[in-house]
Formats: sequence, structure tokens, C-alpha cells
Amino acid sequence: MSNSISMLMLDLPTVLFLYSTSLIAGTCAVLNAWRHQRNETGLGRIALALAVLAVGGVLAGLSELELLPWPFLWRYVHFVLGVGGYAALWSGLAELSSPRWRAWRLRVALVPLLWLLVGMFTGFIAHNEQRAAVFHFNAFSFLLAAAFCMWHDRHAEPLASRLLLSLTLLVSALLYGSECYWIVSSAWSRQLLSWAFFAQIICNFTLVLLVLTILSERSAVRLRQASERDELTGVGNRRYLFARLPVQAEAGNAIIMADVDHFKRVNDCFGHLGGDRVLAVAAQALQATLREQDLIARFGGEEFVIFLAQVSQAEARSLAERLRLQLAAQEIDMAGEKCKVTVSIGLVWLDGPGRSWDEWLNLADAACYQAKQQGRNRVCEHEV
Ligand code: GH3
Ligand code: MG
Ligand code: MG
Repeated sequence: MSNSISMLMLDLPTVLFLYSTSLIAGTCAVLNAWRHQRNETGLGRIALALAVLAVGGVLAGLSELELLPWPFLWRYVHFVLGVGGYAALWSGLAELSSPRWRAWRLRVALVPLLWLLVGMFTGFIAHNEQRAAVFHFNAFSFLLAAAFCMWHDRHAEPLASRLLLSLTLLVSALLYGSECYWIVSSAWSRQLLSWAFFAQIICNFTLVLLVLTILSERSAVRLRQASERDELTGVGNRRYLFARLPVQAEAGNAIIMADVDHFKRVNDCFGHLGGDRVLAVAAQALQATLREQDLIARFGGEEFVIFLAQVSQAEARSLAERLRLQLAAQEIDMAGEKCKVTVSIGLVWLDGPGRSWDEWLNLADAACYQAKQQGRNRVCEHEV
């Protein structure tokens, strides 16, 4: 029994070195990710922060073993590296979460300087317990703030790894918070601190793993969005439409086929690039008229398919008419010249199941053809 207990004893300097090792491994992993994704803001600072904390941890370990000359000087150095490292880690993680936090980074960079100044005036850095309490409090605050930022941005970018990272940061913050409390209340022991740092090692590895997972989840989302977006107009493409249409074509929905009138003339007047611009403006105007639950996709050259979700037949008619009027009223500025376009709209209201989406789309297309035949710039409805 006593043998197994002694096996559970952890040696603080060894744990501190292992803690630094976890930070060095994290630095390498994040640096490698940054090499491939230079556009990801925050990654460089996370790598720098982990490296700074690793050096600080090694110096603290050597200090603990009294292996360094001029211990007074090194205490200052590893203290500043420790508090600065967590400030930089917050800044990197917050910016990885969202660029909105960038404005705070200069203010946050002042925190380690402030601690240093306070340390120089009060001399607390020379006292092991006071220095350790401030280091732990600083780490607790920045990790808690980083957990908050990750959690705060969850709606703007909903990624599963974001919440897990937020949780890991919270655990890491609470560990530092507890350590700070033990130190301040003199309830600490080297064993307790060793175990807390051992748990921090696990948090460090998890943190880095989750940062890398955020990056891969983020690129998967971007890739999917790019594959479903029409690059010219910014609205969805066919893949987007078919991925989001309900599995069954059910009653109470409507399909619209909108085709820009005489678009060839637009190209003839303003050139192909001018035509491209008109198409983009037209698509955005159509999209702006729709409700949140509706879908719009560019189906072909100057044809758009619109899915109206949960509408009555009367609502579908009035929405189709609004789309037509909205586009007709739009004046597009083409280098000083005004350009106006209209659309012919084919509308089909789904009166019940029994047809496939392809069949409903063909009916909307036929109604659109009818609108062209009747003189364009109008809505024609397929009578069910
Ligand atoms: P209608 O009123 O009968 O629909 O006449 P239209 O000229 O709009 O129709 P038509 O199908 O005869 O011609 C469509 C034109 O749209 C031909 C094609 O060059 C042009 N077009 C298709 N895709 C694009 C595109 O991405 N950019 C530009 N600028 N033009 C395109
Ligand atoms: Mg066409
Ligand atoms: Mg056309």
C-alpha cells in the first residue's frame, strides 16, 4: 500500500519540466499549422505564447532547483515570461476565435508591463509565494477571458471544437485559480502544486489539439460553403439548393423560376463583365426581397430558382410580384450609365406531394416560358 502511494508522489521540478515539454510540443504543432494557414490570425501569437511559457517554465524549474546564478535576476525574467505568455495566449486565442478582439491586444500587452512595474515598486517578485500567487492569478484571468471569448463567438461561428476548447480553457483557468487560492491561504503543498501542474499538462495538450481541430473544422466549413456558393453572384448554386430542399416536395411551399429578360442585350451594351455585374446586383436584389426561410440559387446563366418555404398560395403570388417589382425598380450604375433589367417569373405552388422536385422545377420553368411568351416582365403561375 505504502509502496503504491509513494509511486503516486510527483516531483515538482520534474513536473515543471514536463509542463514545459507539453508547451514546446504545442509550439511545434501550432507553428506547423501556421506555416500552412498564414491567413489564420492569432496562430502565430499562440505559438509565440506557448514558446514563451515553455522558456519561462524551464527557467522556473531551474530556479526551483537553484541551478541558476543570480537567482534574483532570473526570478524577474521567468515571472515576466510567465505573465506575458498568458497575455499573448489570450490575445492569440481570442483572435483565432474572432477578429473582433484584435482591438484589445495592445491594451492587454500592457498587463505584463504593469505587473513588472508593480513588482519593482513593491518587491513582491523577490518573494516566492507572492510571485507565484500573482503568476497564477494572471494565468487564471487570461485563461478565463479566453474561455469567455471562445464561448461568446459560438453563434457567429458554431463549431463543436470551439465549445470544447472553451471548456478546456475554463478547466485550466480553474486549476490556476485553485492554485492561487492555495498559495494565498497557505494551504498549498509541493504535492498539491505538482498534481495541479500535471493536470495543466493534460490541459495544454488538449488545448493545442482543439486549436488544430478548430482549424480543420473551419476549413471544412469554408470548403463546403465555397462548393455551394455561386462565385459571381454570391447566392447559392444548384448543389446548395438540392442540399437544402426538403426531402419530400410537400404542400404549402412554392417554387419560382426567374429568368432575366433580354440579357443578351445587356451583354451587348455593357460587355460580358458589365453583364456579370448586372447579374450579381440582380441576384442580391432578389435575395434581399426574400424571407429568411426562403432559398435562392443561380440555376443557369441568368436564371434563378427560388424556394418559398411555408407560404399560402396568395403569399407566394404577392412575393413573386414583389420580386419582379423590386428588380424592375433597381437602377444599376454602369460607369455613369444607368442600366435597368426585368425578370420573367414562373411560379408554382405545391398543392400536395406526389411529384419530385425535378417535376415541380419543370412546371415552374414552363410557367416562366409562358411569361416570356406573354411579353416578359411578368409573373405567370402554373395552374394546379
Ligand atoms: P430572354 O428574355 O428570352 O430570356 O432573352 P435572353 O437574352 O435573356 O436569353 P438567352 O437565353 O437568349 O440568352 C442568355 C444570355 O445570358 C446568353 C449568355 O451569353 C448570357 N449569360 C449566361 N451566363 C452569363 C454570365 O455568367 N455572365 C454574362 N455576362 N452573361 C451570361
Ligand atoms: Mg435563360
Ligand atoms: Mg433571359
